[in-house]
Amino acid sequence: MTIQIKQLPLGPLQTNCYLVACTATSEAAVIDPGWDGRAIKERADRLGWNITKIMLTHSHFDHVGGLEEIKALTNAPIYVHPEAVTMLEYAPKAAAMWGFHIDPPPLADIMLTEGDVIEIGELRAQTLFTPGHAPGHVCFYLSEEAVLFDGDVLFQGSIGRTDLPGGDYALLMSTIREKLMVLPDNTVVLSGHGPATTIGDERLNNPFLQGDQWG
Ligand SMILES: [Zn+2]
Repeated sequence: MTIQIKQLPLGPLQTNCYLVACTATSEAAVIDPGWDGRAIKERADRLGWNITKIMLTHSHFDHVGGLEEIKALTNAPIYVHPEAVTMLEYAPKAAAMWGFHIDPPPLADIMLTEGDVIEIGELRAQTLFTPGHAPGHVCFYLSEEAVLFDGDVLFQGSIGRTDLPGGDYALLMSTIREKLMVLPDNTVVLSGHGPATTIGDERLNNPFLQGDQWG
């Protein structure tokens, strides 16, 4: 295996930031720098990993609170879906409504679309367009390693909330059915909050995914 993953729960909502590294090249990507960019950089440094990409599943403020700092420390390109850009610009205001301060995010560098493959050293992360929780939400799927970084789409025993601006319950459910539940049962799901799970476990146990259509 050439993949190593570190989960860093960060910030007031304990959002999971992930460091994903190719052990053959020591190249690493940051997925969702939720808070405290310096802590993310220091963790990568201790592991001997060189951060070359910053990837956003979506731009809710708790997923991008450390974006300005990690960009300044690494100058790595920021990958985001174009429909998430407006909310990214709005993130400091959204944070302020919850009583938090985040730095104004830098401009994104690379616009993602369904099917785009992002190389992290020898790893290949495929972009899945997964709307419903937030505008421009994407997941990153590494089929060789059977790993899915799914942001706030599906959680262990739950699903992403759809009551925030741009949320759409019916759209989220069709995303889960058509983009996630078609993946192999052994796919490890690494979510934006809480513990890891698998597609198979959620197919069996997730109360939101029961009934004939999920069989
Ligand atoms: Zn979210």
